[in-house]
Amino acid sequence: DNPHLPELLSSANMRALLPIRPGNAHKGSVGRVLVVGGYRSYTGAPSLAALGAYRTGAGLVTVAYPADCDVVPPLEAVRLPLFEWNTANLQMARADAVAVGMGAGEGGVEAALAALGLARPTVLDADALHERVLRAYAQSGLPSIITPHPGEASRLLGLSAEQIARFPLEAAQTLAQRYPGLVVVLKGGPTVLAWTPPGTSETRMAVNSTGNPQMATGGMGDVLAGVIGALLAAGLSAWDAARLGVYLHGLAGDQSQKPGLLAHEVAETLPEAVEQLR
Ligand code: AMP
Ligand code: MG
Repeated sequence: DNPHLPELLSSANMRALLPIRPGNAHKGSVGRVLVVGGYRSYTGAPSLAALGAYRTGAGLVTVAYPADCDVVPPLEAVRLPLFEWNTANLQMARADAVAVGMGAGEGGVEAALAALGLARPTVLDADALHERVLRAYAQSGLPSIITPHPGEASRLLGLSAEQIARFPLEAAQTLAQRYPGLVVVLKGGPTVLAWTPPGTSETRMAVNSTGNPQMATGGMGDVLAGVIGALLAAGLSAWDAARLGVYLHGLAGDQSQKPGLLAHEVAETLPEAVEQLR
């Protein structure tokens, strides 16, 4: 392994990361995920993340959302409608990992800063992806992952989304150097990952080998945030959860590669992707 070359995510390497479910598993032991998001008409995003988390093996998923926003989480999820984003409210979920920002709109920054008080491994997506949030998470030293698409990376880097899509390795590396410790998942075709382990100067890079252009539809990234959240809750490190998460999400998308592919269909195909990888 040459550390100066990006790792191309392979089935052999990703298989080795799959969490094993012990015979005495119970829903509290295999990973409790808290999904935090939703705002006004963005009601589907947190539900899709919850679905992604459950289909990746989470034992229990709680969805926290603004009480005035009609989010309809999966039947199997615990609903946590809140009038205010604060740590005490989010603590009620007793989560092992958090996914925050999906459809969170103007509440994204506040939600992410409230979630930071939980001190759990966290995936920051969509409306949580702001400079102030990323700096706070990087400083906290908590295992944290950011999942920008080129548009969101453009806001963070001050470059055009076109430039980022043309030079994804450079963009991901720049973000990973700016926020040491944060695992960067720069989504696209292909998704690129970067991570500067705290206290080091070497940035590790990886490139996903799964996924296809039919996945360019609304809600797809929300499912990914849930997938990664479940893997964090199962105890994987941030770097492992991010790599296995993007690989599985793309593999699920490849199973049912057809025009008009919807995000919830990819979520429903995740178990097959896991079985295929195993
Ligand atoms: P979002 O824009 O947040 O909904 O995220 C889109 C998701 O779909 C990410 O996981 C992308 O990697 C995936 N995706 C979108 N377009 C492509 C593509 N052309 N090839 C592979 N994956 C894609
Ligand atoms: Mg998104």
